[in-house]
Amino acid sequence: MLLIAGTVKAFTLPWLRMAYFPFIASLTAFYGVKTVIVLSLLIPFLELSNFFNGEKLFEEIAFLISLIATASISSLVITALRKKKNIVETSLKIIKEKAQNIDSETEIESFSDEEVLSHYLASVRKSDEEIKELLMVAKNAVFADSVHFFMSAGGDLRLRCSTEESGNIIPSTGGIINLCMKEKKPVIVSDISEKKLEVGYLKRDKVSSLLAVPVIDGDFPLGVLTADSTRFHAFNDADNTTIQMFSKQLLRILQRERISPLIHRSHASLKILLEESSKLLSSLNIDFIAQRLTEGAYRLAPSAVVLFITKGKEFEMVHQIGLPSPGKKLFSMKGTSLDILVKNKEPLYLSDVRDYRSPVMPFKTDTIGSVFALPLLYENELIGILAVLSEKKNAFNSHQTNLLKVLGNQASTSIANARFHEEIERLAITDGLTGLFNYRHFQERLLQEFSRFDRFSEPLSMLIIDLDYFKKINDTYGHPVGDTVLKGVADIIKTTIRNIDIPARYGGEEFAVILIGTDANGAKNMAERLRQAVMNTSFSAGGNTFKVTISIGISTFPYHDVTTKEELIEKADQAMYYAKREGRNRSILWDGVKG
Ligand code: GH3
Ligand code: MG
Ligand code: MG
Repeated sequence: MLLIAGTVKAFTLPWLRMAYFPFIASLTAFYGVKTVIVLSLLIPFLELSNFFNGEKLFEEIAFLISLIATASISSLVITALRKKKNIVETSLKIIKEKAQNIDSETEIESFSDEEVLSHYLASVRKSDEEIKELLMVAKNAVFADSVHFFMSAGGDLRLRCSTEESGNIIPSTGGIINLCMKEKKPVIVSDISEKKLEVGYLKRDKVSSLLAVPVIDGDFPLGVLTADSTRFHAFNDADNTTIQMFSKQLLRILQRERISPLIHRSHASLKILLEESSKLLSSLNIDFIAQRLTEGAYRLAPSAVVLFITKGKEFEMVHQIGLPSPGKKLFSMKGTSLDILVKNKEPLYLSDVRDYRSPVMPFKTDTIGSVFALPLLYENELIGILAVLSEKKNAFNSHQTNLLKVLGNQASTSIANARFHEEIERLAITDGLTGLFNYRHFQERLLQEFSRFDRFSEPLSMLIIDLDYFKKINDTYGHPVGDTVLKGVADIIKTTIRNIDIPARYGGEEFAVILIGTDANGAKNMAERLRQAVMNTSFSAGGNTFKVTISIGISTFPYHDVTTKEELIEKADQAMYYAKREGRNRSILWDGVKG
C-alpha cells in the first residue's frame, strides 16, 4: 500500500490509484473481510492532504466506498469458492474411506466370533440389493436413462441387475457389450441408432448413446457395466472414468460374494475341529481317542484314514477307516514313504504317488493318488502317525492339512496323557521287583473271576508257590542275589503260564497264579511244568552257580469243597505246606492233602 501511495505521490500519477482495487481484491484471498475493510479505510489517509482539499473530498469518499465494496464482493466470492472446495474434498474423503472399508472387509479370513461372521454372511446375501443401489447412484452420476450389469455365465452375458424393471431388458448375443467384454476395454458410442449398431441387449426405448465398461478381476472379465441414453453424445470421458470407478466397487461386491462359500466351509470345518478336539480332551482311553481322532480326520478330509501308535521301534495300527483290513497290526515303516516322516518328524504331503516304485504305506493298499501324513509328537518324541489317503492326486488342500495339524496336535497331547495315565495305572497294580501283579490287584482279579462264575463256567484253579530254603540263599549270597532269584523265578512263571492266567507276587518269596478255565488236572500239569522249569534253571553269584526249587500247592474251584475265594487260597496254601512237609520241590493237589 505504501509503495503504491509513494509512487503516486513521487511521480504524480493519480491514475495509478486504480492499482488499489486488484490489490484489495487479492488480499481477501488471505485475510478475513473485516481486516481487508480496515485496510481499505487506511488507504485515503495515506494522502491526508486530499481530505483538506474541499474539491477532492467527495471524490475521496467515492473512492473509499468503491474500495470497501470491492473488498466485500471479492471476499464473498472467495468464501463461496472455498465452501465448494470443502464439499468436494469431504465427499472425496468419504468415497476413499468407503473403498478402504470394502477392501478390509473382503480380507476377513479369521473371525473372532459368530456374531461377526453372521453379520458378514448376511451382508453377502444382500449383494444383489447392494449392486442395485450402486447402479442407481451410477445412473444419476452420469445422467443415464438406465444402467445395467451383465454378468458372464458360461460364455454368455446375462443380466444380473438393472435400474430398469426386470423384463424390460433382454440380452442378445454379440453387440457392443460383448465386444467390451472380449476386448476388456471401455467403449463409448454416441450415435447408435443412426449407425444402426447392435447394443447387445434389447430395450423398449431406443438407445442412442452407450457407455460400456468391463468389470475385471485381475485379468479375468466377470461382466460388463453399461449406461445408456436416448440422447446422442450423452457420455464423455469423465463419465467413462466415473463408470469405471463404479465397476471397481462392483468388483469388490462380487469378490466378497465369491468368498462366502469359502467362509461357510471354513466355518463348518472349524466347528468340526472344535467338537472333535473337545471329545479328544475328555478321554484318557487310548482306543477311544484313536477312534475319535480317525473319525475327526475323516470329517475334515473325507478319505481313508489310518492311525498308528508307536510300540518300541514298530507301529501299531490302532484304528482305520476305509481301508481293507491288513490282517496284522504291528508294522515297520522301513522302506516305505512314511519312513521320512519317522526320521524328520515333519508332516509329509505326497500329492501324487501314483508312479511311486517303493510302497507308500507299510501294508498293501488299493491305488493311492495322494497321502498326507502327520507325526504325532509329544515333547518332540514320535508317539504316532496319522495318515489320510485318497485315490485322487492333490486330494487335500492347505486348509484341510492345516486343520488336520491342529487336530493331530490336540490328539498327541491326549494320547500322551492317556499313556501316562495307563502307566500310572499299571504301576499301581504291579509289583516293583518282579513285574507281576501285586497282592491287592490279585485279590481284585480273583474276586472278579468268582463273581463272573456261573454253573456253565469252566473251573478255576489256584497255585501257591513258595521258594524252598530261600533264607539260605539270602544268607549265602546276600539279599541282592536273593532279589535276582525272585525276579528269575517270576520270569519263569510269566513265560510258562498262558496270557489269560493271572500271576502275582503273593508275599516275600511266595507267588500265586490264577489259572483261568483250568481243572485240577490241568493245574497239576502246569504246576509240574513250573517246578521243573525252575529246577532246571541255574543262577549265578560271585562265580558260583546254584539252583533253587519251589513247592506248589494246588486247589480248584468249584471242587475241593471250595465255595469262596478265601477257601480257594486257604486250600492251596495248605497243600503248599503239605508239599514242604513231604520234602519240598514238589506240587500237591489239595485232594492229596485230604488223602
Ligand atoms: P522254606 O520256605 O523252604 O520252609 O524255607 P525258607 O527259608 O524259604 O522259609 P522262610 O519263610 O523262613 O524264609 C523266607 C525268607 O525269604 C525270609 C526273608 O528274608 C526272605 N525274603 C522275603 N522277601 C524277600 C525279598 O523281597 N528279597 C529277598 N532277598 N529275600 C526275601
Ligand atoms: Mg520259603
Ligand atoms: Mg515263605
